[in-house]
Amino acid sequence: MNFDNFFKARVDALHAEGRYRIFADLERRCGWFPRAFDHRIGSEVTVWCSNDYLGMGQHPKVLAAMQAELRGSGAGAGGTRNISGTSHAHVLLERELAALHDREAALVFTSGFVANEAALSTLAGSMPGMVVLSDAMNHASMIAGIRNSRAERVIFRHNDTQHLAELLAGIPEDRPKLVCFESVYSMDGDIAPIGELCDVADRFGAMTYLDEVHAVGLYGTHGGGIAERDGVSQRLTVIQGTLAKAFGVMGGYVAGSALMVDFLRGHAPGFIFTSAMPPLLAAGALAAVRHLRESGAERATHQERVAVTKRRLAEARLPVMPNDSHIVPVTVGDAAMCRAASDLLLREHAIYVQPINYPTVPRGTERLRITPTPLHSDADIDALVAALDAVWRDLQLRRAA
Ligand SMILES: *Cc1c(COP(=O)(O)O)cnc(C)c1O
Repeated sequence: MNFDNFFKARVDALHAEGRYRIFADLERRCGWFPRAFDHRIGSEVTVWCSNDYLGMGQHPKVLAAMQAELRGSGAGAGGTRNISGTSHAHVLLERELAALHDREAALVFTSGFVANEAALSTLAGSMPGMVVLSDAMNHASMIAGIRNSRAERVIFRHNDTQHLAELLAGIPEDRPKLVCFESVYSMDGDIAPIGELCDVADRFGAMTYLDEVHAVGLYGTHGGGIAERDGVSQRLTVIQGTLAKAFGVMGGYVAGSALMVDFLRGHAPGFIFTSAMPPLLAAGALAAVRHLRESGAERATHQERVAVTKRRLAEARLPVMPNDSHIVPVTVGDAAMCRAASDLLLREHAIYVQPINYPTVPRGTERLRITPTPLHSDADIDALVAALDAVWRDLQLRRAA
């Protein structure tokens, strides 16, 4: 077999479908956010699609903590968590994350993806007869964990508690069950009815696993996510989060009972057989979590900026997909057009919004996913709305009714 021909055919297919991925070439500069230098066009752009939702990636407390830890303990962790890789920074971070979710314990992984893959494959894979009930819109990292567990998987319709109840009712009572879902879904920005999903899971004696990646730091009085906001943090078997989005650094984690965390610590290959996150990242994440537990100012400004952006886009009859979260999806509905719109925004308006195409979202729902931050000014919003309005006119894209 000629492997190069295989690779070429598959890459050509991506081009033909208009979903060949073109990466940005950004240089984030401290103090500039949400602006960055874009090496594709050799000038400054305003970034409107970052998951550094609150700008914590450049927060002075985070930078100071990382610089101090770098000077103090050096570059890497020096081992796996079990063999010489656990630093005091990891211990403090796990304590802080447990407190963030008001749970007994937490366990840090090298990324949110790894946390989902490792925790789900281990939880679902270690109990004979396990059935996993997975929301239809769950993230690829959860799907990877469920697949790798080799447990039976049943998909329930997105956020549909009734469908979940029907499916659970059809599974023998003596089989262990695990219900997996997210709080804020990253592409549509809709929010799960966590309490109601827990009601159904409880009725059938199922464990619950909640991915709060797009909510931690952003919702709840202390940034504990939608579960904190809704007062249901205690009801979940596992709360999973990332340190790389609103907390601005890198890493992932799970929180829950001390027993559950102890079980994963001793059994999850994705935790055991990999080097620990560098202590400087743990120190930076710790500073970010600590700050956002105390301060609600970033969350309040974030929500206000989101509301203004949504209102202004709607006034310009741009097709904003409605939701109750901080994610602002603007529908294009075609992969090639979505890429063209993104190109025009970059080259004519110095605005960077990455096109979101299949398989990240279903075909026909291709979109620009806009993420306002507390650091986007009124002038930035004016410029965004004017630029999108021009692009929609130039490409004759569909407007809102
Ligand atoms: C980004 C993301 C992850 C993975 O988190 P990382 O820390 O970026 O690896 C997990 N779940 C969801 C829903 C995500 O969007």
